[in-house]
Amino acid sequence: MSSRARWAATAAALTLGAALAAPPANAEPAATAAPAISLSAGEHALIRFRLPDQATLDRLVASGADLAARPRTDSGAVLADLVVDDAQLRTLTASGAVPVQLIERESDAAARKPAGITRLQADTLQFLQAYWWTTNGKTFLQTQVATTATDDPDVEITVTWKTADGTTGTYPLVRFEDSGEYQYHYALPQPLPGKPVTVTASSSLGGTSRAVTPATWPGATPPPTPAGYQKDFIAAYMTPADIAARIKRLARQYPKLVDVINLPNKTQGYRRNAVAYLGDPAVAAVVVESVKFGDQSMNGVQVRTVDPGAPNRALSASYADRVLTVRLATDGAGKTISTTDDVAAFISAKYPQRFRAVVETGSAGLPMPVVAPVRLDDGLKGTEVSQKPWTVQALRIGKVRDGSKIGVLAYSQEHAREWATPLVTLELAERLLANYATDPATRELVDNVDVFVVPTVNPDGANYSFNDFNFQRKNLVNHCTGANRDPRYRDSWGVDLNRNYTVGSYFDGYVGGNANCLSGTYAGTAELSEAESSNVIALASAHPNIRFAMNVHSYGGYFMWPPGSYKAEGRVTLPRPTIDESKFFLDSARRIVGAIAAERGTVTWPAYTGPVADVLYSAAGNSADQLYYELGIDAWDFEVGNDRWNEATQEWEGVGFQPPFDEAHAEAQEYAGGLVELVRVAKNAQDQAGS
Ligand SMILES: [Zn+2]
Repeated sequence: MSSRARWAATAAALTLGAALAAPPANAEPAATAAPAISLSAGEHALIRFRLPDQATLDRLVASGADLAARPRTDSGAVLADLVVDDAQLRTLTASGAVPVQLIERESDAAARKPAGITRLQADTLQFLQAYWWTTNGKTFLQTQVATTATDDPDVEITVTWKTADGTTGTYPLVRFEDSGEYQYHYALPQPLPGKPVTVTASSSLGGTSRAVTPATWPGATPPPTPAGYQKDFIAAYMTPADIAARIKRLARQYPKLVDVINLPNKTQGYRRNAVAYLGDPAVAAVVVESVKFGDQSMNGVQVRTVDPGAPNRALSASYADRVLTVRLATDGAGKTISTTDDVAAFISAKYPQRFRAVVETGSAGLPMPVVAPVRLDDGLKGTEVSQKPWTVQALRIGKVRDGSKIGVLAYSQEHAREWATPLVTLELAERLLANYATDPATRELVDNVDVFVVPTVNPDGANYSFNDFNFQRKNLVNHCTGANRDPRYRDSWGVDLNRNYTVGSYFDGYVGGNANCLSGTYAGTAELSEAESSNVIALASAHPNIRFAMNVHSYGGYFMWPPGSYKAEGRVTLPRPTIDESKFFLDSARRIVGAIAAERGTVTWPAYTGPVADVLYSAAGNSADQLYYELGIDAWDFEVGNDRWNEATQEWEGVGFQPPFDEAHAEAQEYAGGLVELVRVAKNAQDQAGS
């Protein structure tokens, strides 16, 4: 919104009179003193007012008034220059403000414009980004342009590029709004025949930008690795059990460089309550589930309903030999009369320690049928997966692990389905350890940095993703109640761990989390309600030497930092980093993006490098924001798995959460290179602080 639009909205919502007239109820009505300044209907003008007092000025500013200047006078009068329309002029005057000078009218401007302006509506264009790069022999250009015509959804913007040999071309941009607010116009990276030397933008309103020379992106390359540098330690996707075995092996192989840290909060485990439909959900059914988990001797328990075969019986039940028998109520003629609601309520009330029952959606109030025994089952398909609560582990890698060295935390798989992400952090761990003995540069890092690696934050969800439902994002804790516990929703239960943290959370009113237990971004019952998210914060809190963190997700090819969320009203983000911090984030990002690109030419787009809230979306209650705002850690996020350019179709193509292993392997290699560079960034920061 422009400041003018804000002012109009404020005036409409609150009315200016209220803003002005609040305390001085006894202020003398000044309408009679109004000089001969009047405006025609809808006309705007810039007018100097004498205000009754300083408080009036303060309220005007607070209400969003379009205050052009606040002239000082020797006499101590409170003056303010305001752009108002006729209605606002009347309101102000009635509230005690005295218009003392009509500085200029709307209509005055036409005659004062410089010659040559013929289209009054022409906008001004500004390049926010213009970057080019070469990947695998192909040159790309990415641009973002902002127009001053922010409220006009129909503005079309075209970018014209020119290469050194004079070749030119154009492409259109698309408008990008977020949370109802105009951000900029952009396009995906465009293939070019060579390096661009200039770009210009023009709009359908007649606006043009100045010519800009695109900068190279990322403009940084990592130091070369020496001959014999070891990498490629990942042979397949890894389950939580595979990861636990790898952690154990690394600790055994490198005892002088590795500690294994058991994080304090055990997870629920790969478990579910045992459940069955008592009846046919297509006709009439009650959902019966065990209060304990299925593996706690409740899988296989049977439930049935029977007709007692006698008149005037009350609803009753008995539980013996792992069979729950519900005897339906009968009327005087011996006909069963219990409803689904009766049966569900009766089971829950009679066996609160053992069973919960709810009416299946759509079966409310129906006659309860006689049902032959059905077996409760947790429905979990991973027969080889341990059902014990899981201990999440961190590898601590470094020559000096007493907290005296600067710490870096790399953690992955908050989201279960992001199978490539533990491969990234484990590849980092292996590279640091395997090259320690032979590569002086690696030794310098491991001798001077304390590296914490949590390959899988969410092992229960990961097991579910591998065995039951590949798109599982959340953990396995089911906070749903009532009909939402129907097993038909089994693939929608769980908490989005990266919405369960405390800063800028859903519970604080920020955008991007959800209170619905079936939502993909369900924020949990409270901040840090989950063991998994609590573990991340416990690890970071227990090791205050950690100054840098990387939260590894997939997919999309993003590289981000705080702020990660905003409030919907006005799109107010968490506080922005300072200019110096922002520069550090960006400079470091360019180094890390350069290191990622060194592997197979994958260039993370400049438009996808920046604060989460700007380049992706608002993610209320994410972990990086808590690490940054509460613990003072420079906390970043990767989304590994960049779009790939398809030369045949001339399109960018997404890679997904679980690409063919060759792609996941390549992602692990390139992003592990990025993490090595992050460790180097940390070491450089420590060197600077110590010098
Ligand atoms: Zn994710």
